[in-house]
Amino acid sequence: MSSSESSTDAIAADGLPPRREVIASRVLLGMIAGGASLPDVLGALCKNIEAQAPGAWCSVMLIEDERIHVAAAPSLPEAYSDAMDRLPIGPQAGSCGCAAYSGKQVIVEDISTHPAWATYAPIALKHGLHACWSTPILGASGKAMATFAVYYRECQRPGQRELDLVKGATDLASIVIARDRSAAALRDSEAGYRALVETAPLGIFVLTRDRFMYANTALARMLGAASTAELVGRSVIGHVQRNSRPGLAERLGHTSKRGTTTRVEVKLLRMNGTEFEAELIATPMSFGGAHSIQCMVSDISERKRAERRINYLAHYDDRTGLPNRNLFVDRLSQALGHAQRNGKAVALLYLDLDRFKTLNDTLGHAAGDVLLRAAGTRLTECVRAHDTVARLGGDEFALILADLAQAEHAEMVLAKIFQAFERPFTVDRRQLFVSTSIGIAAYPRDGTTSDLLLKHADIAMYRAKAAGKNTYRFYLPDMELGLSESLSLETDLPGILERGELELHYQPQIESSTGQIIAVEALLRWQHPQRGELHPDAFIPLLEETGLIRSVSAWAIRRACREARGWVDGQGRPLRLAINLSASQFKDPRLAELVAQILADAGFDAKRLEFEITEHTLMEDTKGTLDTLRALARLGASISVDDFGTGYSSLSYLKRFSVQRLKIDRSFVAEITEKRDTAAIVEAIISLARSLFIEVVAEGVETADQRDFLVSRGCALMQGYLFHAALPPARMEALLGGTGVVLPPPPSIPHEGPSARVQAA
Ligand code: C2E
Ligand code: CA
Ligand code: CA
Repeated sequence: MSSSESSTDAIAADGLPPRREVIASRVLLGMIAGGASLPDVLGALCKNIEAQAPGAWCSVMLIEDERIHVAAAPSLPEAYSDAMDRLPIGPQAGSCGCAAYSGKQVIVEDISTHPAWATYAPIALKHGLHACWSTPILGASGKAMATFAVYYRECQRPGQRELDLVKGATDLASIVIARDRSAAALRDSEAGYRALVETAPLGIFVLTRDRFMYANTALARMLGAASTAELVGRSVIGHVQRNSRPGLAERLGHTSKRGTTTRVEVKLLRMNGTEFEAELIATPMSFGGAHSIQCMVSDISERKRAERRINYLAHYDDRTGLPNRNLFVDRLSQALGHAQRNGKAVALLYLDLDRFKTLNDTLGHAAGDVLLRAAGTRLTECVRAHDTVARLGGDEFALILADLAQAEHAEMVLAKIFQAFERPFTVDRRQLFVSTSIGIAAYPRDGTTSDLLLKHADIAMYRAKAAGKNTYRFYLPDMELGLSESLSLETDLPGILERGELELHYQPQIESSTGQIIAVEALLRWQHPQRGELHPDAFIPLLEETGLIRSVSAWAIRRACREARGWVDGQGRPLRLAINLSASQFKDPRLAELVAQILADAGFDAKRLEFEITEHTLMEDTKGTLDTLRALARLGASISVDDFGTGYSSLSYLKRFSVQRLKIDRSFVAEITEKRDTAAIVEAIISLARSLFIEVVAEGVETADQRDFLVSRGCALMQGYLFHAALPPARMEALLGGTGVVLPPPPSIPHEGPSARVQAA
C-alpha cells in the first residue's frame, strides 16, 4: 500500500464508492450466496483487500479453544502459515495471538522490536515479514471469533484508508463467520436430533396419507421389520389391529383438525401378524410440505400385563381364581339393585369349610390351597352362570344367588352343594372328606343392604356350625340374640366356672341287642343367663382361644368323675364314663398328671374312664400324642377315637396308638340306609376294626332302620337320639336308678333343622 493512498479524505475525494461495497465485490457476494466454504470466502476476501492495498498480505485466523487457526492466508508463504497455525493465544503470541487474547486491535509497525512478537519474531523475520496489524473479528456476544491481519515486508503503520479497508473486511468476515458458525451449529443440532430420533428407544414414525414416510430403528424393531427402509412406503393402517382401526382413525382425524397432540392406546401388528399393545402419541406436522402426523410409539404390553394383574388381584382371589371380597360386595350391590327393580329375591350364602384349619395345619398350606381351589370349583359347578361364587378369605366362601322368585329357591342350590361335598377331595393322593356349614340371608326379607345381609348370613352360618356343622341355617331374627357376636360371648367367658354356669349332661351308649346302657358320655352345656343353653361347638373354640380350656377341662373331668361315680358303681354291670378332650387339651404334657390327681381325689377307678379324642387330634402331633396316650394308658384309662371317618380314615394308626374304641361319625350313620357307598364304607370300618380287636360305637343313631342296619353288620354299640339325647345328671341318675335298661325314649331332638349330612362317597 503506498503512503499516498493512506488518507481517507483522498479516497473520498476520488469519488470512489463506499469501502464496504468495494470489498463486497460481486465475486465475493456470489460466493457467499452460492454457499461456498468459509475458507474459500475468507480467501477471496483476503485477495480482495490485497488488490486494494498493494504490498499487503492478508490472513484470517479463527479462534478455537484458545488457539488461532489459519482459515485463509492466500498470499503468505505457506511455511509461515503452517508455523503460525494452532498457536495458543496470549500477549506474546504475535499480532493475531495478542489481538485474539486482548480482543483489541494490535498494530505492530516493527515485528523485530514489538513485545507481542517476543516469541515468534524470528519466524516472521525469516519470511521477510516486518509489519503486522491484526484486528479482532467480534461475534454477536462481543467476543473475538477470529482475527484479520495485514502483513508488510517493510515496517509501517496504517493510514485511515487502510484502517477503513480493514474495518470493512472485518465487518464482512464477521457476518460470514457468524453465518457459518450458526449453520454448523444447526448442522450439529440437526445431526444430534437425528441421532436422538434414530437411537431413541421409542418408536417414531411420520405418517402422510396412511404411509410411513419416516420410521426409526426402534419402530422397525418393534414391528419386526428388517430395516427402517422396509417400513417406509408401507401402509400404516395395515399395522393396526382391526378392532383398533376405527378408534385410531377418529383420534388422528381429531388431532389433525385441532392441531393438538393426542394419546391413544391401540393394538399394533408386527410384520409377521402377531399383535402387541402400544401407546401412540400423535402430533400433526408438515413433512416435505405435506400434511402429516408424527407418532411416537411405545410397546406397553408389559405395562398392560401388570395393570391387568393388579386389577385382577384387586378383584380376584389369587389362590382360587374366584372373585374376592371387593368384587363380591360390588356384585352383591348390583344384584340387590336389580332385584329391587324387578321385585325379585337374592339369597346370600355364607359358607365355611368345617375343620379346614386342622387340615391346613396337618397337611400344610400347599395342600390347603389345593383343597380351597377344589372346593371353589365344586361350588361354581353348583350355581348358574350369572350367580357369583367368591372367596372372602381363609376357608370362607360366599355365593350370590340372584333373581330368585323367592328365597326358598336357594334350597335347591344348597342340596347341590351338600351333594358336591359328599365326594372326597383328592389332596396329595389322599382322599379327604370335607364338609361345610352354610348360613343364608335373603333380600329383602333379612336385609336390604350388602352389609346387613353379609352380617346376617354370617350369624346364620355360626348357627349352622353350632348345630353340629355340615348343615345350613336360614337367618332368623332371634339368632342375633344367640350368636350375633361371638365377641360378646367371649367377654362372658371369664368367671364362667365361678358363676356355676357350666354343666355336664350325659348321653348313654347302648348295647342295642339288650338295650342296656354300657357307657355315658359327658357333654358340656353352658347355661348362659341371657342366651339359654349353649352347645359346646359354640364356645369351645372360644375357650381354646382364651386359654380357659385348661381350667374348664380340669373342671369337667373332676365334675364327671364325682357325679358319675355313684352310677358307675351302682350298676349290676359297671359303666364306662366317656369324656371328650379337644386337641389343645391333649397337647398339654401335664394332662395325665392332672387326670391322676383328679381320679385320686374323686376315688374314681381309672379303668372306668375313657377319653374321646377325634381322628384329627390323633393325627396332629404324633410324638406328643403318643406320649400322652401312653401316660393315660399307664393310668388304666382307655381311648376312643371320636368322629371317625371325617379325617384320613386310616385304620393303620389306630393299631399303632393302641386305641380301644372308635366312634363312627354321625354323618355316616345318617346316610347308611340311603346311600350304598356310605353303607359300604361303614361296613368296611366295622370289619376292619373287628380284625384289629377295636370296638365300634355308632354315633347319632336316630332311626330304627339305622339301628337295624348297624346290628346286621355287626355293630352293637350305639349312641343317639333314637335312644336318648344328652340328659342332665338328675335324669341320668333316675334312668340308671331303674334297671339300667332303657325305657321307651323321649323323642327330644335338641337341634333345630335337618340332622347332619353325610360326607362320604
Ligand atoms: P361329639 O363328641 O361328637 O358328641 C356328640 C354330639 O352329637 C353331641 O353334641 C350330642 O348332643 C350329639 N348327638 C348325640 N346323639 C345325636 C343324634 O342322634 N343326632 C344328632 N344329630 N346329634 C346327636 P354336643 O353336645 O353339641 O357336643 C358337640 C361336641 O362338643 C362334641 O361332639 C364334642 O366334640 C364337644 N364336646 C362336648 N363336651 C365336651 C367337653 O367336655 N370337652 C371337650 N373338649 N369337648 C366337648
Ligand atoms: Ca364325643
Ligand atoms: Ca363324635
